Amino acid sequence: MPSEPKILINEHDISRAVGRLAAEIRRDYKNKNPLLIGILKGSFIFMADLTRKIDMPLEVDFVRLSSYGSGTESSGKIRVLTRLQEPVKGRHVLLVEDIIDTGLTTAFFIDYLRKKRPASVRLCALTEKPARRKTDIEINYLGFQVPDKFIVGYGIDWDEKYRYLPDIRYIE
Ligand code: 5GP
Repeated sequence: MPSEPKILINEHDISRAVGRLAAEIRRDYKNKNPLLIGILKGSFIFMADLTRKIDMPLEVDFVRLSSYGSGTESSGKIRVLTRLQEPVKGRHVLLVEDIIDTGLTTAFFIDYLRKKRPASVRLCALTEKPARRKTDIEINYLGFQVPDKFIVGYGIDWDEKYRYLPDIRYIE
């Protein structure tokens, strides 16, 4: 059992970052009716806050990809567990992720999406860990760079715990 999570990013700073990302997205996707695809479960709170702050017509969908389970390391073998409900062909797709760690999960899913011939695919991530990156995927809208620590809170879990925390914390 890890020690109590320690604060890394407080609620106020999260809210400001989400507002900044929403403003950038609103500017870039004006009149494009983008399809935001949230990667479950970790992105659910970020997605909810972001869509409200974007505050213009858009559609949302979610997918579940196979995750780390209760471990803390990516296996690199990813599967789509819950498929998309909305057609992607011809759409301007914005992927919404909680964490880009190695980037393997997202790189896999971007490949999967591109086969469905969207008009465009971009990536919005709340956090990234540059020290851990193994792929060169581009993050078009980024909230925070975080150190190589295991983070939880604001929708992000450790073995289903801590998602309810309003801020981002790390466990050791
Ligand atoms: P990647 O494929 O980029 O290595 O891993 C992406 C996924 O791994 C994230 O969406 C998340 O589910 C999980 N992950 C990576 N780092 C962390 C972390 O620090 N905390 C938690 N809770 N999950 C993480």
